Amino acid sequence: MPKHVVVIGGGMAGLAAATTLAEQGIKVTLLDAASQLGGRARSVAIEASSRVHQLDNGQHIMLGANTETLKLLAKIGVQEQDALMRVPLTLDVRAGSQTAFKFVAPAYLPAPLNQLVGFLLCSGLSWRERAAVIQFMLRLKKTNYQLVNDEPLAGFLQNNQQSNNVVSLLWEPLCLAALNTPISIASSKVFLNVLRDTFKNKHSTDFLLPKHDLSQLFSQPIMRYLKAHQATTLHNKCVKSITPNANGYIVATKEEVFEASHVIIAVSLVQLRNVIGNLPKLSFVAEQTESYEYQPIYTIYLQYQHRAILPAPMLGLTGGLSQWVFDRGILCKQHGLMAVIISAEGKHQKLTQDELALKVVKELQTAFPHLTKPLWHKVIAEKRATFTCKVNLPRPANSTLYSNLFIAGDYTYADYPATIEGAVRSGINASNYIINP
Ligand SMILES: Cc1cc2nc3c(=O)[nH]c(=O)nc-3n(C[C@H](O)[C@H](O)[C@H](O)COP(=O)(O)OP(=O)(O)OC[C@H]3O[C@@H](n4cnc5c(N)ncnc54)[C@H](O)[C@@H]3O)c2cc1C
Repeated sequence: MPKHVVVIGGGMAGLAAATTLAEQGIKVTLLDAASQLGGRARSVAIEASSRVHQLDNGQHIMLGANTETLKLLAKIGVQEQDALMRVPLTLDVRAGSQTAFKFVAPAYLPAPLNQLVGFLLCSGLSWRERAAVIQFMLRLKKTNYQLVNDEPLAGFLQNNQQSNNVVSLLWEPLCLAALNTPISIASSKVFLNVLRDTFKNKHSTDFLLPKHDLSQLFSQPIMRYLKAHQATTLHNKCVKSITPNANGYIVATKEEVFEASHVIIAVSLVQLRNVIGNLPKLSFVAEQTESYEYQPIYTIYLQYQHRAILPAPMLGLTGGLSQWVFDRGILCKQHGLMAVIISAEGKHQKLTQDELALKVVKELQTAFPHLTKPLWHKVIAEKRATFTCKVNLPRPANSTLYSNLFIAGDYTYADYPATIEGAVRSGINASNYIINP
């Protein structure tokens, strides 16, 4: 009997799985509960100042090290130079009106020399601190970024002679950006995995910043690809149950049933329990993930006059609530639109959205005095943006105790925190079990 795979969930994991299967000529039906695909990486239309603006649910950053995401984009016909701005590794962090830390990896040097010279010449750290960072980086490289026992990142850094100043200017912002988890509880092992892949070569450290909104970047071209490969994608299909039968599985929404030889469950973790109730052999996955906690990401969009521009597309901010600011004019031609990011839990969650926007406006104006009063603001609070990437977090595998039934999702790619790359890799891995049984 020919294979028919039902992929449940059209986030990056489900989309990557469906694309990988469809490429092999396998019949795929992708079901998503929402009215649009993309899951946690999607665009949102908001109305402000009598106009509809296409924003993202959160500003996403990728890295040159995100090789599977880059391959997926190439497969679906998205040219990197059209879709992503590649920014060679630069960290420019402002504290009020001053530059607190500036690191540039010289583009003319090979890796890792470029990083070492970058740290040697960076501003904001004392000579002693720079030497400690370089020694630490060399030690990590020598041990291939391996750690026998996981421990909270804050303690690990302290044990490796990283001063409070280095932690607050360098490691903490990187940890929040990569793991979306407070440094006091973040997994050192997962952080080192990210460093290992990021510092692999000169281009793996590049930031890749979307030039389009996220749906234009991912879900729309993937839908076109799937259609061209005879796959079916259906929105507003909230799966309620999966029941094994003689030929495979019956996947049921409230109104319809779909027969499948194979199933990939790629729903977000918070929805997983609702889908797997009929599958007692998956209760261990539910138990395994019961201890998961979640972290928010707040994106504060501020629209200034169209000519307002920042010195760079992405800048760090320290000493207040704001952590990063992106100039969507430079990135996506949304001139004068700034996106300020606040990752992980914190004091900002106690403020109303208007209070938060006002505070962020003040912080931006201190750092960039030409940014005065925005024309409008919009706060997007993703309260469960990612799982908390804690020490020794159990991570389920893609294969399950059911034959021909797999799970995918950022939480299943154990090497990585919740990221697009982790989700994409998990989707590809799950589909490879079906392609090469
Ligand atoms: C604000 C924000 C900022 C982020 N920033 C970054 C970043 O800078 N870099 C980065 O790499 N990552 C970032 N991430 C993380 C990244 O977006 C996620 O790790 C990734 O998108 C997760 O994909 P997924 O497919 O695993 O899950 P999801 O995207 O959650 O997809 C699950 C899908 O399942 C569907 N679904 C749920 N229940 C059902 C059901 N019963 N039936 C059918 N369908 C169902 C949902 O509608 C959804 O489409 C960010 C996330 C957020 C929220």
